[in-house]
Amino acid sequence: MRSFSKTIFASTLLSTFLLVFAGCKASNTESSGSGHAAAEQSSDAPHTSGAKTLAVTKVFENPLQNQVETLIHNGLAGRQAYEITESLTTEIGPRQAGSPAEARARDWAVDKFTEIGLENVRIEPFTIEGWKRGIETATILSPYPQSLLVTALGGSVATPDDGYVAPIAYFPSFEDLAASPETGLDGMIVFISGRMEKAPDGAGYGPANRKRRSGATEAAKRGALAVVIRSVGTDSHRFPHTGQMRYSEEVKKIPIGALSAPDADQLERILIRGQEVVLKLVMTPKDLGPLPSGNVIGEIVGSERPDEIILIGGHLDSWDAGTGAVDDGAGIGITAGAAQLIIEAGLKPKRTIRVVAFGSEENGLLGGYAYVDRHLETLDKHMLASESDFGAERIYEVRSGVKGASGEKVIADIANVLSSIGVEMGTKATNGGPDIGPMFSKGVPAMRLQQDGTDYFDLHHTADDTFDKINPDAMAQNQAGFAAMAWIASQSESNFRD
Ligand SMILES: [Zn+2]
Repeated sequence: MRSFSKTIFASTLLSTFLLVFAGCKASNTESSGSGHAAAEQSSDAPHTSGAKTLAVTKVFENPLQNQVETLIHNGLAGRQAYEITESLTTEIGPRQAGSPAEARARDWAVDKFTEIGLENVRIEPFTIEGWKRGIETATILSPYPQSLLVTALGGSVATPDDGYVAPIAYFPSFEDLAASPETGLDGMIVFISGRMEKAPDGAGYGPANRKRRSGATEAAKRGALAVVIRSVGTDSHRFPHTGQMRYSEEVKKIPIGALSAPDADQLERILIRGQEVVLKLVMTPKDLGPLPSGNVIGEIVGSERPDEIILIGGHLDSWDAGTGAVDDGAGIGITAGAAQLIIEAGLKPKRTIRVVAFGSEENGLLGGYAYVDRHLETLDKHMLASESDFGAERIYEVRSGVKGASGEKVIADIANVLSSIGVEMGTKATNGGPDIGPMFSKGVPAMRLQQDGTDYFDLHHTADDTFDKINPDAMAQNQAGFAAMAWIASQSESNFRD
């Protein structure tokens, strides 16, 4: 009975989804007219309520004010970002850096960018060192035999094929391990626990991430065989969180994996009972040597100053377990969707708006660095850059990484006009996002439309990062924000530098 009613529930859900989805497609076709008309036509659909009556704060003279209002109204009523993200996560799925799937994602991006009307669509290839996970199991052999869910961290070396069997040395936090004497862990598997705090801007990630990045090095210095950490995440589901780790050249490389939060808590409860706990850990990832990756670029070419670039983008690669919907299919959808909104509104920018789908972000921001290498000569013509790589929930504030009064004024104006859709001017500085960081450090001005990431680390780098987690209304607010921001910057005289 129970499973029967579940089936009914699931099929009702599915048909509701299909109806809503069909409705979205219809409203998108209509949304190529003016923003007001599009908002009215689709106002019968529940997910677009509010778009019709939204009064956008008056910040600019016309025609700019009207153009921005059109983009915001069309953005709120449209499903461009949502559909692009649906397409990427469904037709490509997981797309790890360097994999054949990431190569298919580049071809997908070329097709999608072309389809939405971007110009100069091209792939800029580069080479990375590939890595692939293998078997991964963790089993408590004593005192209470049971299996735990584990996943290898990106870049980890392997255990022997038959694994390590060893007693656990327990550290409640990374700081406890780092402060411990640099000896005494010979022949042991280190377990580093520690919880990550939830915060809208992900402020807990940096501190929590130390064990992921440096846990293997600190444990190896003390003689350990291997490391398991409590996943860097904020959920209580049995999905371990992967993510890139780092080795120090001076220290022996040892394997490191992450346990899901409940499995780590289980291990902790067993450990604090005081008996020796023996773990069998098998992880067999492989280095794959040089593999192809690449950035995909498309543009709306500027009509007056085509050499001046406003860059928006996200990253095309994802970790391997999920389909990379919130990290970072959403960022590709939001930024390409924003460009699509500008094209559909028939607007031609003065400066070039460039959309970049960066490759190989997850394994070390390699696409961001490759972009800088290739565009070194024209970085001074990159006027402003901004990435969407923090999920798909609503934008709540603007962060500035620009200099000079004229640039600050434009950023404040963007925040002011976006106050209509719930965005405020923030006080924290930004480098524009992970893939923008390398160009920001070479002087490219940056800004960020900061998404609410309170729940982002529930899904981040897990098998649970899938398309069903995306809220279409929040995506609509995001594409409205990015379209307005890119458009305003593209029409500005400011160089955002002085
Ligand atoms: Zn990301």
